[in-house]
Amino acid sequence: MPSTPFSRFIVLLERTMEQLELSAQERALLREPQFVHRQSIDLVRDDGSHLVVPAYRVQHSDARGPYKGGIRFHPAADLEEVKALAALMSIKTAVVGIPFGGAKGGVQCNPKELSSAELQRLSRAYVRTFAEHLGPERDIPAPDVNSTPAIMAWMRDEYEKMTNSFAPAFITGKPMSYGGSLGRDTATARGGFFLLQELMQSEGMQARHLRVILQGFGNAGANMAHFLHHAGCTIVAISDSQGGIVAEEGLDPVRIRQYKNQTGSVKGEYCEGSVCDIERMKLDHVRHVTNEELLELPCDILIPAALDTVISERNAAKIQARYIVELANGPTTPEADAILQDRGITVLPDVLANAGGVTVSYFEWVQGRSGERWTAERVDAELKRTMLDAFSAVRAEVRQNGVTYREAAFILGVRRIVESMRARGWVG
Ligand code: GLU
Repeated sequence: MPSTPFSRFIVLLERTMEQLELSAQERALLREPQFVHRQSIDLVRDDGSHLVVPAYRVQHSDARGPYKGGIRFHPAADLEEVKALAALMSIKTAVVGIPFGGAKGGVQCNPKELSSAELQRLSRAYVRTFAEHLGPERDIPAPDVNSTPAIMAWMRDEYEKMTNSFAPAFITGKPMSYGGSLGRDTATARGGFFLLQELMQSEGMQARHLRVILQGFGNAGANMAHFLHHAGCTIVAISDSQGGIVAEEGLDPVRIRQYKNQTGSVKGEYCEGSVCDIERMKLDHVRHVTNEELLELPCDILIPAALDTVISERNAAKIQARYIVELANGPTTPEADAILQDRGITVLPDVLANAGGVTVSYFEWVQGRSGERWTAERVDAELKRTMLDAFSAVRAEVRQNGVTYREAAFILGVRRIVESMRARGWVG
């Protein structure tokens, strides 16, 4: 049987549960999500036609607190993917020690083909469909791939109308004008950046000597490029879903963001569709690469910041990075992990490296419940402390058990979930 995102998660989970010597009952509870909600949403398009959109909310575990996790709008967001992402959220919230469980939502469509009005109707319909399972103390959604603060605002508004309530803690990742938190927009990248700084310090690396490649230029990738550029790293290559550009002497992410905003793509400064201005590219010492080629270019740090399964047994032997920092969820398959480990490439795994997003979501939720407003400095300081605490806890597991960072993070996360299940008397 071909592997799926969820079957790949299970491989890692089984290995961890074996190591922790969990009981059969504990294993059974961790393997399957507690709830799987699915329903088709009938979207009436602007022209009056109908589009039937499969939608999901998977609630993996609330052993450590209310379910928490984003909602992704993507054609590949099927049940197997959403189940895997929900389970990864349970591990992630446990690794950073915030009082949440894990969940994920999926809306299986291409939002880039929808008008803003259609997207708004779809977002509101999602909330109406799953409202009885959601709530500030039950399950708190957030942004994920292709979902934005505007979508979070429509969803909160729909929930408040339905329940006739004021519910700022219903959802996180909201715009600042409607209950958002300072620092949430850059949080995923900021958290990963704090880890990288710590790693550089402990390995005696200097930012200005580091060559970095980013796959993905959405919220996480673009902000990370910005932080690294500021720190003095050389950004050798950047891509988005339409391909990427390489410059041995370094790219300027601020300029790329400007062109991406104007033209819709990273290579927009040089190319219109598939037609590129070769002369200009030569002049700027820039060349074009596909996403597959980009992953195999030499660099110190490779940052997958887009979708899952981009590093697999097909290309793991060809990766020429020393470190991989996973801002995407699930970018590396277990087979690839084994190859990378053999080759001495260190991977900072998704459940640690991209946990900055959900961590600041927690701060936003706390502010929503208390009515407080935190300063940007406070958010930044608390995020840094949370990320570095998690990093040192994961490192302690790496050293104690002689395992990879991913295995260590899973050991830490699963142990914390099981401790809560035991404390609550769910398991004997
Ligand atoms: N979608 C993000 C993640 O995968 C953030 C989730 C959240 O803030 O709840 O971690």
